[in-house]
Amino acid sequence: MWAHLRELIFPMPGACLWCGLQGAPAVCGRCRVELSWLPPDRCPRCGRPVAVGPWGRAAAAGAGTAAGPVRVPPAPPRCWSCRVRPPAFAGVTCLGLYRGLLKWTVNAVKEKGQRFLLPPLAEMLARRLLADGVVFDLVTAPPLDPRRLRRRGHHPALALADQLAVLCGRPFLPGALRRTRAVRAQSGLTGAQRRRNLRGAAEAVPHAARRLAGRRVLLVDDVITTGSTLDAAARALLAAGAVGVWAAVLADNGPRRALP
Ligand SMILES: [Zn+2]
Ligand SMILES: [Zn+2]
Repeated sequence: MWAHLRELIFPMPGACLWCGLQGAPAVCGRCRVELSWLPPDRCPRCGRPVAVGPWGRAAAAGAGTAAGPVRVPPAPPRCWSCRVRPPAFAGVTCLGLYRGLLKWTVNAVKEKGQRFLLPPLAEMLARRLLADGVVFDLVTAPPLDPRRLRRRGHHPALALADQLAVLCGRPFLPGALRRTRAVRAQSGLTGAQRRRNLRGAAEAVPHAARRLAGRRVLLVDDVITTGSTLDAAARALLAAGAVGVWAAVLADNGPRRALP
């Protein structure tokens, strides 16, 4: 048992952390694909998968006629939700969907405190930020829920934000935002209820506001569900003078969204 525990905490060099494949880096190619898979059709604003097939995609772009070829656009248009009520953040970089190996890993980090799983995920997310061409000046996370922090004893989003800041060579500003009032737990609430629950519930602390002015901020969280937590935090950052906010999350646990 101790040998197994030791391997979990200090994995053998040259073995995949997830499947134990010998001679592999920390994450083998197969696990990397499973951890970071995203469907190709996603809303460019909220990052949500959108319900579009090849025909829907072409129809959504209004491309093609009976006489001419159908050209598939490089990306789908924004989802219905982002057209009606765009979020305060400009976009989301996400590692993968909240299912399978990634779901298991996120829960292992959040609920069981297995933080040794975070560095390879942070490295993969940093690579994706680079691939997405995201440019930012500093890194922060949504405000802490003190009760949840006491229960868990750690804050996965803050730990992830810290590691991303180091990997990307940008300053980390922990605790830049705080709650202005107590909020209900978000789980079990609808999207509209979540927005109401969080409306005006976050603000930048005065010393952070000075550092946020005129800066492009990377806002880091572990999971995006409806996006209301990131939206409320992004609003508070923009209100404090940030010139733009981009979100980075490990996993997307939201529903598919429809195109207009
Ligand atoms: Zn593996
Ligand atoms: Zn969207």
